Amino acid sequence: LPPIVAIVGRPNVGKSTLFNRLVGKKLAIVDDTPGVTRDRREADGHLGDLEFRVMDTAGLENATDDSLPARMRRQTEQALADADIILFVIDGRAGVTADDTHFANLLRRSNQPILLLVNKAEGQAARAGFLEAYELGIGEPIPVSAEHGEGMADLYQALRPLI
Ligand code: GDP
Ligand code: MG
Repeated sequence: LPPIVAIVGRPNVGKSTLFNRLVGKKLAIVDDTPGVTRDRREADGHLGDLEFRVMDTAGLENATDDSLPARMRRQTEQALADADIILFVIDGRAGVTADDTHFANLLRRSNQPILLLVNKAEGQAARAGFLEAYELGIGEPIPVSAEHGEGMADLYQALRPLI
C-alpha cells in the first residue's frame, strides 16, 4: 500500500492548492470519502517518482458545530490516526499565527514524520515568515509555492527518505 500523506494547517494557507498540485489531475481523480469523513478528500498523489495517497483535510474548517481550536484538534487527531507522513502548511506571507502555534503543539506529540511547509513563498514576501517558522519547533521549514509550483524539488528531497 502507498503511504498516506496528510496535509494539515489552518484555513487559507493553501492546503487544497497543494493537494491539487500533488494530485495533478484536477477534479477527475479526486474522490470524496463517504460517511463521517465526507469532508476529507483523498486521492493518488505523486511527486517525481514518489507515489503516495494524499489527504486534504479541507472541510473541517467549514464546520459550524464547533470552535476553531476544537476543529483543529479533531482535524489533527484524524490526520495523525490515518496518515504516515504529515505536511504541516503555514502561510509564509502571514507569518506564524496563534493558530499555527496551536497546530504545532498538537503535531509535535506525533510519532509520524512532519514536514513544515512555508507556502506562498514565491517572490520575497515570505522571507520573514520563513525565518519565523523555525520558532514552531517542527524542524527545518521548506519554502514552497503551491500555486506556482516552486520548492517542489526541496519537498521531494525531504519526502523521499520517508517513502
Ligand atoms: P486552504 O484553505 O488551506 O485549503 O487554502 P486554499 O488552497 O484554498 O488557498 C487559499 C488561498 O491562498 C487561495 O486564494 C489560493 O489561491 C491562495 N494560495 C494558495 N497557494 C498559494 C501560493 O503558493 N502563493 C500565493 N500567493 N497564494 C496561494
Ligand atoms: Mg482547503
